[in-house]
Amino acid sequence: MEQAEKPEHAYVKCSCCGELIKNSPEENNDFGQNSYDEGFGMCRECGGDPNSDDILTRLGWAGRTFFDARIDIVRERLKPETRAKFDVMSYERQVAFVSRLLERGVMI
Ligand SMILES: [Zn+2]
Repeated sequence: MEQAEKPEHAYVKCSCCGELIKNSPEENNDFGQNSYDEGFGMCRECGGDPNSDDILTRLGWAGRTFFDARIDIVRERLKPETRAKFDVMSYERQVAFVSRLLERGVMI
């Protein structure tokens, strides 16, 4: 018996903001990942553009929300001297700092 091919979804909805996007590697951040349901999409605005040089564009709305929440938590728990150093870091370095804590399993 021949395996029926899955129908291609030409357009998918961004599960984050509901925007209708082309199901292509350029517009759908989740393209080819099949991490969720069929037809799942994540627009660049929400999911970020991995090819961008700008950290904010690279993270996208979902990424920024994710890191902003964790940056606040980390900041609160730092000793005053360390917090002062953390505060003068660029956003990109703060994100890298939080990423290291996540990798080490210090926080989730
Ligand atoms: Zn979106």
